[in-house]
Amino acid sequence: MKLYQKNAYELCRMLREKKVSSEEICRDVIERINSHESRINSYISVSNDIIAQARAVDKALAEGKAASPLTGIPIAVKDNISTKGMKTTCASKMLEGYIPPYDATVISKLRAAGAVITGKTNMDEFAMGSSTEKSYFGRTCNPHEPLCSAGGSSGGSAAAVACGEATAALGSDTGGSVRQPASFCGVVGLKPTYGSISRYGLIAFASSLEQVGVIGRCTADTAMLYSHVCGSDRRDATSVRRSYPDFLSCISCDIKGVRIGVPEEYFGECVSSDVRKAAESAIDCYRKMGAQIKTISLPLVKYAVNTYYIISSAEASSNLARYDGVRYGYRARNCRSLDEMYFRTRSEGFGSEVKRRIMLGTFVLSAGYYEDYYKKALYSREMIRREMINAFNECDVMITPTYPTAAFRLGEKDSLSMYSGDVFTVSANISGLPAMSVPCGYTEERLPIGMQLMGRPFSELLLFNMGYAFEKFTAGSFMGGALI
Ligand code: GLN
Repeated sequence: MKLYQKNAYELCRMLREKKVSSEEICRDVIERINSHESRINSYISVSNDIIAQARAVDKALAEGKAASPLTGIPIAVKDNISTKGMKTTCASKMLEGYIPPYDATVISKLRAAGAVITGKTNMDEFAMGSSTEKSYFGRTCNPHEPLCSAGGSSGGSAAAVACGEATAALGSDTGGSVRQPASFCGVVGLKPTYGSISRYGLIAFASSLEQVGVIGRCTADTAMLYSHVCGSDRRDATSVRRSYPDFLSCISCDIKGVRIGVPEEYFGECVSSDVRKAAESAIDCYRKMGAQIKTISLPLVKYAVNTYYIISSAEASSNLARYDGVRYGYRARNCRSLDEMYFRTRSEGFGSEVKRRIMLGTFVLSAGYYEDYYKKALYSREMIRREMINAFNECDVMITPTYPTAAFRLGEKDSLSMYSGDVFTVSANISGLPAMSVPCGYTEERLPIGMQLMGRPFSELLLFNMGYAFEKFTAGSFMGGALI
């Protein structure tokens, strides 16, 4: 087995036992990047100092300096997370040449842990989208079938991990952007509880909904990466003050007696038959492992997509007002007035989907429409949140499909049909709950299918145990991405 095919926790063990060096691991990953990037396009920019980072780690290890489980492990980072001295573009012409002067908190934590940052991954512009087709730098293809989408908006991160172009990755999830590409690419993706990972340095799209999320080839890797990037941060006012365990050392397969809620609304007509079958057989596995299965009802889910798109667009219109051509980013040339400079900078710098959201957001916040749209969406957000929280009186964890279908073909969907596909993922963001996608099957064409596990706030350990137990029970049949 090549090193790029190995999971992070295996590589960590090999590094500790001095069976391999970080440089050897990274050389394997670079070779993979060189052979696959022209087809997959996971990265917007690949770090030019991967080997230098790896050598520095190897030197520290040889000197006996303290190592963490992430030391020497190649990790890719979505291009909306600020990296000091490294271009951070949000896949937009607006930030094409932007080099942040500081690291996001999650990046400082990765560097402190000795992780090797392989590069910045492709995404939908400003994380708006579900297919990674809306990138200024070209679309990302699914490593399982390059004619299909890798999902989005963290499609580059999921594809890189699935393809062996990185061992694990960071993404961001505002309405499903970590979980949906994870399900399309056959990897594990966690959107943690709101407030558990610092958003400092994550370029804002919809601040009340989004979190940095983690992607790995198996649940244990995801738990390991999450343990390193979670935690309170005084630089993020929404960060929750509490302590977190080392999830990897706590993970276990014991899920006997866990009450699993299966919301009937998540298995309706829009779900394709192969996705339904895969999710149902996963539920059956849990029954065999001793969990209690209960059908529950979440009738308000039908309002979730509308609520999400009103709130996220409203916040986006405000967050993206800063791209005015003055302080940083793109500026239109040869303008005769300040107004013309604003107008042309924003017209030329943003892509069509971003403009659509800014217009929608500005509309729902405008005097006269605010009460009818934005305020109503805030009410329905609270109702959905209460319904979700109350459902956890009846169960400890919920299982749903992550997405109604497996990966769709590139170019197949327009914006509106893409919006409606987010129906199963947005509720976790609306409610701030943790949710994780775990591979649970394949379609007839061998495209991966993911199931979503959702829990109470801060129940990440239970989600990890659920994912881990499933992987063990099915002998890893759906794990590992597309590593051939
Ligand atoms: N697909 C959703 C959207 O387009 C979610 C995006 C995200 O999570 N960043 O808004």
